[in-house]
Amino acid sequence: MGQDIIHKPSRPRVPPNLRDYGLARAEFTWERARSRMAGLPGGGLNIGYEAVDRHIAAGRGGRPALRCIGRDDSVTTYTYGDLARLTSRFAHVLHRLGVTRQERVFTLLGRCPELYATVLGTLRAGSVLCPLFSAFGPEPVRSRLELGNARVLVTTEALYRRKVAELRPRLPELEHVLLVGPVTEQPADTLSWTALMDAAPQHFTVPATDPEDMALLHFTSGTTGAPKGAVHVHDAVVAHHATAGFALDLHPEDVYWCTADPGWVTGMSYGVVAPLTHGVTLVVDEGEFDARRWYRILSEQKVSVWYTAPTAVRMLMRGAPREGAGTLQDTFDLSALRFVASVGEPLNPEAVRWGQDALGLPVHDNWWQTETGSIMIANFAACDIRPGSMGRPLPGVEAAVLERGENGRARLAGGRVRVVEEPEVTGELALRPGWPSMFRGYLHERERYEACFADGWYLTGDLARKDRDGWFWFVGRADDVIKSAGHLVGPFEVESALMEHPAVAEAGVIGRPDPLAGSIVKAFVSLRPGYGPDPVLERELIAFARRRLGPAVAPREIAFDQNLPKTRSGKVMRRVLRARELGLPQGDLSTLEGPG
Ligand code: ATP
Ligand code: MG
Repeated sequence: MGQDIIHKPSRPRVPPNLRDYGLARAEFTWERARSRMAGLPGGGLNIGYEAVDRHIAAGRGGRPALRCIGRDDSVTTYTYGDLARLTSRFAHVLHRLGVTRQERVFTLLGRCPELYATVLGTLRAGSVLCPLFSAFGPEPVRSRLELGNARVLVTTEALYRRKVAELRPRLPELEHVLLVGPVTEQPADTLSWTALMDAAPQHFTVPATDPEDMALLHFTSGTTGAPKGAVHVHDAVVAHHATAGFALDLHPEDVYWCTADPGWVTGMSYGVVAPLTHGVTLVVDEGEFDARRWYRILSEQKVSVWYTAPTAVRMLMRGAPREGAGTLQDTFDLSALRFVASVGEPLNPEAVRWGQDALGLPVHDNWWQTETGSIMIANFAACDIRPGSMGRPLPGVEAAVLERGENGRARLAGGRVRVVEEPEVTGELALRPGWPSMFRGYLHERERYEACFADGWYLTGDLARKDRDGWFWFVGRADDVIKSAGHLVGPFEVESALMEHPAVAEAGVIGRPDPLAGSIVKAFVSLRPGYGPDPVLERELIAFARRRLGPAVAPREIAFDQNLPKTRSGKVMRRVLRARELGLPQGDLSTLEGPG
């Protein structure tokens, strides 16, 4: 993994918030960030108010808030004023159904205007919103509704019939199911979202909201095991807003597109809340991934800031024609684009550089978790990029690498931890609690929550190292790291090296137990168009990785697999590769992508 740096010839503006605050980085405090929020007129803080009402109060109701692109490419625009009316109606709908503050409203929806009305209406009403992936199967939907004590579910007729109807009798707490969109025949025990909305008044005053009131419930991606329900409070909006300024360089005049599914935390924090608090115009694509469509949206909508994920970047890379054939991106005008960022998985250096070639801009990697609620570490706007690094902690974030103990995690004897001061040493990434979007618990799982803390630190479960200049480098999940012949091998480093080979589209690397070495490194590789699996290519890839990584770290075995197991948020599930390899039970597969 190179230590090369992409210097920005003309650096973008200083991160807007820092400059607006009139502060040097060291002077930033969350208290100061909090003082920049509008706040409820009667005191308190409410996410929905910051995203919608504050713009109305400031006379910006006519600005476009959402630009929804239908599957048929139709474009419908909603202003901030429209959003205020829609979300007011939904807040009234909840009141009329007798749903009280702090009760849970779930969505099982793709990206659509009704989603925004429901999410922000719920938050403005002081109830709690929990989004689910619309692609979840029936059992994952049921278990989350049950664990989250869902009182209301908003979904479509088709999704209801396919995923909920049969299991409804096992959900006694689920009182109301509201169906959006056209309904051919209203199923028993369901209500029409549209009819309820039409009958509701379009003015609603956000009630007093304590910043510590629960606002959002987010299930984790389930990459490492059974998903956990992370609880977030209204105060989180302080961090959503500030970090979107620092890490995404959002300004009110931006046209912004976040490709994350609204069913996971990025799709909420940075697909709904943060951009709207900045007053930007959000592009909402109701369609599926398609390279040509995506380039067209970037171009036609004049997207200026784009937030996506490594899996999408790799799909664009994979879809690109081979050299010499002319490139797709040559046919699209991407001149409005000025900032691109990615999250969710490590971003291979190859992908950062691809951005520079194909989009004319490098991709800025940033790191965070469902638990942290907002971006913590980033290659942010005002600094150079180190391809392969997740960047540096944002203002207000204290991050450290902690020494690993017996079990590979940071907790040492007596529950103590030790901060590694020396550069380039791998340890567990930890954060000093205290930022506003920090999760306040795993719902109904107190012990699991408490196990995340030691000695005044929040332990992330990820391994990282810090270089001499303070950049953080992701090594792997604590569970995924491989010990081979005395070496600690991070799967990410091996995957990135393999991806530099022109044949490789994606890779997932695991350790396979070996009597001599402890573990040997095995890579599962999917190939780009024009390449087929064969023993010659396998030998070539092994030799290629050896030249880059040395024999101790390079994979000893390679298997070709065009369908690497992934979570629905696009992360390679190495635990599933490992379980399949060893013939072990595969564990919780509720978030596995694909049929079954
Ligand atoms: P679960 O906790 O259920 O196993 P998950 O950890 O994948 O699932 P998320 O909260 O969605 O659930 O993902 C956060 C994790 O994603 C991080 O802990 C890290 O392992 C990985 N991640 C996110 N961004 C990056 C990044 N930029 N580089 C490397 N890894 C990242
Ligand atoms: Mg996690």
